[in-house]
Amino acid sequence: MLFSELASAFAEIEKRSGRLEMTGLLAGIYKKAGAKEARKITYIMQGILAPPYEGVDLGMGERFAMQAVAGSAGYSMEEVEKEAKKLGDLGLVAEAFLSRKRQHALSTREMDAGYVYDVMLRIAKASGKGSQDLKIKLLSELLNNATPLEGKFIVRYVAGQLRLGIGDPTMLDALSFSRSGDKSLRAELERAYNLCDDLGLVAETFAESPEKIREFKIELFKPIRPALAERLPTPEDIIGKIGECAVEFKFDGFRMQIHKKGSEVEIYSRKLEKITFMYPDVVEAVRKLKQGELIFEGEALAFNEGKNRFYSFQETMHRRRKYGIKKSAAEYPLYVYAFDLMYNGGDCTRLPYAERRREMEKIFPSGILKISERRMVKDTRELEAIFKESLERGLEGIMAKDLKAPYVAGARKFAWIKLKKSYGSAVDTIDATVVGYYLGKGARAEFEFGGLLAAVYNPERGKFETIAKIGSGYSEEEMKNLQEMLSEITTKEPPADLDYKIKPDFWVLPKYVVEAAFDDITLSPTHTCGMKNDKGYALRFPRMMKLRSDKDPKESTTTQEVMEMYEMMRGEK
Ligand code: AMP
Repeated sequence: MLFSELASAFAEIEKRSGRLEMTGLLAGIYKKAGAKEARKITYIMQGILAPPYEGVDLGMGERFAMQAVAGSAGYSMEEVEKEAKKLGDLGLVAEAFLSRKRQHALSTREMDAGYVYDVMLRIAKASGKGSQDLKIKLLSELLNNATPLEGKFIVRYVAGQLRLGIGDPTMLDALSFSRSGDKSLRAELERAYNLCDDLGLVAETFAESPEKIREFKIELFKPIRPALAERLPTPEDIIGKIGECAVEFKFDGFRMQIHKKGSEVEIYSRKLEKITFMYPDVVEAVRKLKQGELIFEGEALAFNEGKNRFYSFQETMHRRRKYGIKKSAAEYPLYVYAFDLMYNGGDCTRLPYAERRREMEKIFPSGILKISERRMVKDTRELEAIFKESLERGLEGIMAKDLKAPYVAGARKFAWIKLKKSYGSAVDTIDATVVGYYLGKGARAEFEFGGLLAAVYNPERGKFETIAKIGSGYSEEEMKNLQEMLSEITTKEPPADLDYKIKPDFWVLPKYVVEAAFDDITLSPTHTCGMKNDKGYALRFPRMMKLRSDKDPKESTTTQEVMEMYEMMRGEK
């Protein structure tokens, strides 16, 4: 398939944001693509080169991308930089310069989509001495052959700014439509995706044969998309929903998914990035386990041996670092509380939780690998008592687990239900993506920071939707840090996949997720979350709790969840 066809489809998608139209366009593309091509095209549409755990970063610096544009169109760097300041979008800059090229390549040729992907991969992988020059040369060669429209998307892609707003659900629908003309294959595709977190691999396998998708299996060292917890407001609601259940303490550390095959061990973060090198202590403990093959999940917490208590979340996060690993491992020794088992040589995800737990108890505890403490609970009173105990122990709350439920990869299906402590008058918290920030007024002027514009994610629409202007809850240090972090990623234009009504002083790339507490959810004309009849959901008295560096923007609380929380609160009142 020609890259020009893909670029035209992207241009169409930019014009219309209707999900059905998008699905139709993408299904048309998949129909034409071969199996290998389907994989590469999928990555391009996602704006990535490989699934997150492979750690292949696109991000070619903006400066280098501008140099390539200047070189291939025959303009000076100053001219390109000036235009970039004016337009604020490198894609538009490339399009503008390529449409008035001063120099033309001797011969140009049409490019395959797969070829463009291959070159991008070479650009990303070039490293070491002379690699910057090589990257610029490779990109310039692509741009020499590109039409202005192709150039626009190539440059956005290479700069990591290709945000077409195509959500995973739309891609899965499109794959299904490409074969069956309807959504009938969607559930099987989704299951496969949840088991490997690699939509490119799913697209390729599906293009080979839908039968293979039906037989798709868990594989070691391909991380599974994590199961998610629902929330309910009271112990009564939980018992009403799942009846007799197992209750575990909810530890406030960070989630790890650990794979083991013999002495080979990999650790994946909640975002499913490989973080093995940061935790030599955990790797060693896992190696010692007798089981040959394992995939399990646990919460990692740093333990303060002197004070015989866990460190706080913020302190535990000292272990999430790239440098000084030995020192921080000695300072903040970790415990990992295993809480689920997905593979033990055979797939465990389809077993009911009670059986998975029995299997886990054969393996843990072992050294620093503990097992989450749990109690069987029959009624509200017992659940309430454990919840109180969790708060007394300084924990976040509890997780109630449905004994009969399988491991629901990538989904939120009342298999796990969390009950969290409240903060002052706050009823609950959400995790929201920062899309902009405000300048400080009065006493805050010195920090050049006055608050955040935060958005939740709507996966069905592939859009971020604003829900709150978070103006309080910051320490001085936090204001300083946030200002520093955010001023590095400001953009002239709002994020392409954001729906908004109010404007912050600065837009930023959607990169950071924060946890915000609030007193209530109301309807307001200023926010776009779940907007209907010009009213969206908005947080009342939102305040900053903490940065959730373990979460990706697309793992923010979803619009659907906010709507459920709203209904839940109204129900209670
Ligand atoms: P939240 O991030 O608030 O939606 O809560 C879900 C997170 O709680 C999971 O991703 C885990 O990291 C964490 N967690 C802590 N303790 C447990 C537990 N016993 N079972 C499952 N998840 C847990």
